Amino acid sequence: MTHIAVIGRGLIGSAAARHLALAGHQVTLIGPVEPDDKTTHEGIFGSHYDEGRITRALDQTVYWSAITQASIARYAQIEAQSGIAFFTDCGGMMLGPKGSDFVRNVTHVQKANHIACKEYAGTDLETAFPFFCFERDAQAFYEANGAGYINPRKLVKAQSVAAIRAGATWVEATALAITENSNSVLISTDKGEVMADQVLVAAGGFSNMVLPQPLSVQIYARTVSFFEVSEEEAARLANMPTLVMRFADGRDPYLLPPIRYPNGKIYLKLGCELADVPLDTVEELKAWFKGIGTAEVGAYQQAIMMELMPDLRVEAAHTEACMTTFTADNRPVISRQSDRITVAVAGCGRGAKCCDELGRIGAELASLR
Ligand SMILES: Cc1cc2nc3c(=O)[nH]c(=O)nc-3n(C[C@H](O)[C@H](O)[C@H](O)COP(=O)(O)OP(=O)(O)OC[C@H]3O[C@@H](n4cnc5c(N)ncnc54)[C@H](O)[C@@H]3O)c2cc1C
Repeated sequence: MTHIAVIGRGLIGSAAARHLALAGHQVTLIGPVEPDDKTTHEGIFGSHYDEGRITRALDQTVYWSAITQASIARYAQIEAQSGIAFFTDCGGMMLGPKGSDFVRNVTHVQKANHIACKEYAGTDLETAFPFFCFERDAQAFYEANGAGYINPRKLVKAQSVAAIRAGATWVEATALAITENSNSVLISTDKGEVMADQVLVAAGGFSNMVLPQPLSVQIYARTVSFFEVSEEEAARLANMPTLVMRFADGRDPYLLPPIRYPNGKIYLKLGCELADVPLDTVEELKAWFKGIGTAEVGAYQQAIMMELMPDLRVEAAHTEACMTTFTADNRPVISRQSDRITVAVAGCGRGAKCCDELGRIGAELASLR
């Protein structure tokens, strides 16, 4: 039996651990829990500390669409294996200016991957989704089933529970270094050492902290706006799908419907950047996560929200910070670095919906000899 250590109990790492354990390998999943207080936390952070991540089969590229379809097809299995529900099937919409590259790409993917969706434009669009205010020439693709949002915290928990039920061990620690020997790999952590035959590194934006050969990835700062709404307002928006869109001027917000957060409050969440701001060192990453994003991006996002949903009754708004990890070719890095080190990194801003397939591919690569 091969002993495989997985570094990173995030969306990709926990998925890989489940696949490896189900395949009969000895698995040690290494990763800390989410910090209680981000502002005073001195350790590492993850990109999944939230209650909503958009999921849908439609995408702008056939690749990301296909791996997400493979993941969505296993959501029910993961929920059944763990007893933890994480998927809300509220529908998903992609929308852009008629005739734009965005719409052309989505049309191509929809046809190539045989995705069931309904197209809306003009007054049909206004009637079907009265709470939105779109540009006059907008064309929408609406997936009514199998799309919506996942709860990333619950998905990590579900994958971890399913992995442990299948025999995996979870070590609640932060990996500090990897030393590869001729017949094993040694992982030093802040709570001791783990010796394994193979290691899969899936530590998100912090992966280069432990990898002997750093990956060529770019991490960007992300600011997210949360709009608190009342129970009544949430009820009015009961049929709201998730939204990924492009304005004619190039702005590209995404928007999630009302979701109840652990503090009991209900928020809509909107993201859209003014520019990609790189975070190049571990110190920069940690400092960014301790903050709440930038006021400038927050104001930009609030203006977009008022444009998209002018009738929204907002009780309060706040921003939070997060990070996304990109590669030059806009694809994840799932590859072997050496005889005993494999990586599964870089969700390119969309790695939550498809994380089960990214983890499965990483698991397969790490276990092939
Ligand atoms: C604001 C925002 C919105 C997003 N929205 C969407 C969306 O709507 N849909 C979508 O599909 N994707 C979305 N994404 C992207 C998605 O969240 C990421 O692609 C995904 O979290 C990547 O998964 P991961 O496992 O690589 O990284 P993470 O989820 O960050 O997990 C990495 C894990 O590694 C752990 N770790 C790090 N260093 C170490 C170490 N040294 N030792 C042990 N453990 C370590 C961390 O604790 C963390 O748990 C969004 C991202 C952001 C920031």
